[in-house]
Amino acid sequence: MPQSAEKVLDHKDLFKEPEYQAMLEKKRATYENATPAETVAETADWTKSWDYREKNLARSCVTINPAKACQPLGAVFAAAGYDSTMSFVHGSQGCVAYYRSHLARHFKEPSSAVSSSMTEDAAVFGGLNNMVEGLANTYALYSPKMIAVSTTCMAEVIGDDLNSFIIKSKEKESVPADFPVPFAHTPAFVGSHVDGYDNMQKGILSNFWKDAPRTAGEGLNIIPGFDGYCVGNVREMKRMLGLMGVEATVLGDASDVYDTPSDGEYRMYAGGTTQEEIKEALNAKATLSLQEYCTRRTLAFCEEVGQETASFHYPMGVKATDEFLMKVSDLTGKEIPEALRLERGRLIDAMADSQAYLHGKTYAIFGDPDFVYAMARFVMEMGGEPKHCLATNGGKDWEVQMKELLASSPFGEGCQVWAGKDLWHLRSILATEPADLLIGSSYGKYLERDCNVPLIRLTFPIFDRHHHHRFPTFGYQGAIQVLVKILDKIFDKLDDESDISFDLTR
Ligand code: SF4
Repeated sequence: MPQSAEKVLDHKDLFKEPEYQAMLEKKRATYENATPAETVAETADWTKSWDYREKNLARSCVTINPAKACQPLGAVFAAAGYDSTMSFVHGSQGCVAYYRSHLARHFKEPSSAVSSSMTEDAAVFGGLNNMVEGLANTYALYSPKMIAVSTTCMAEVIGDDLNSFIIKSKEKESVPADFPVPFAHTPAFVGSHVDGYDNMQKGILSNFWKDAPRTAGEGLNIIPGFDGYCVGNVREMKRMLGLMGVEATVLGDASDVYDTPSDGEYRMYAGGTTQEEIKEALNAKATLSLQEYCTRRTLAFCEEVGQETASFHYPMGVKATDEFLMKVSDLTGKEIPEALRLERGRLIDAMADSQAYLHGKTYAIFGDPDFVYAMARFVMEMGGEPKHCLATNGGKDWEVQMKELLASSPFGEGCQVWAGKDLWHLRSILATEPADLLIGSSYGKYLERDCNVPLIRLTFPIFDRHHHHRFPTFGYQGAIQVLVKILDKIFDKLDDESDISFDLTR
């Protein structure tokens, strides 16, 4: 045997050993009834042709490898931003295992959420009993200060009503009558994690703000939106606001719960916005959202209670950060300090220093609508040319906004916007109209290999690289991190491809 206690091989070497190769060959020959390799190669080639692309882009009844997750995952992420809050997902257990593992694989941190464990009987008779028992267990076992309830497909298909279920559960003393149990219906068969985030944010704020008296003050609330870089970004945003002397309440601060230390103590809950802060946030003058598509319903609710609102598309890069800081300055009357002006200048200096390598590079960008917007904008600021912008969870309104953005710069002229398309569409697109670089999540690695276009991982989920989320992408300093990641990829590619220009100095 190639594997023994004295000789432990990693799987990447182990399966190359003759015993395993012979076993795999036998399996193929005996059980797989495999198509001949030439036919597979021929078909694979055809799937990269214009002929196949047209068929693929006409596809409407099936989605293959969408660049989005389902609503409850966004709800679980939103709830994680609140102090000692346990996510309770009404539905089947497997779904919740998916949200937990998805978040844990990205952040390399435990991600807590419980389920009401609905099975066949609940699907037929309704999940009220599961809710009553589940809330009681969650309260007793995990000692949360708040339980945030969302739903999976199963509960939505049978039409379980969260409001009445929670009222009944309180009547049956699953949790004390005054214990906060905000909820959001998050039907996974429409929208995406971005909508789930929005619905849960609105659910939590409604729980504390609805019918509460408001005394309009001068405070500022900030909602970060669904952001896989929240650990670095929320801290960076607080740092920038600190330099301005602005104290803002972050509604949904998940930066600590996804970055707990290893010191011998397991923290199921860490940091997060407290209930006192949520209540006080009702009196704020304004609520700003850093990601418009994550907060449309939430901001509408903030307006209903009398607050001013404004939203951004992920403030990254020069102009996007300028707009965010100027809005904060307008609302608070605080000057943008010299320290931030210097950071801005340093970002522009870094972009100028690397211009020879950045200018004219073409990009395919995929991810959530706000991220793709921000990334395309920053790429154009750097002198790059977005060629394909794709958001599976982007709709017609996003497409219009993207086209306006692209029309604002000569670098956007050749770009095509792909709203509602998936990563199998993107494969056809890249195979027929290639770009120099691909920006997206870890799911782009298959496209990288298949279409030979280098991938830069800059958005959720990043499973196959570690700790990216600890560094900011927001603001001027975050933009420098993004710039460096892009440049590293450009230089690696140049070194890999160069026979006459393997230069020490670039
Ligand atoms: S799409 Fe539906 S079944 Fe699938 S994980 Fe989401 S809630 Fe569960």
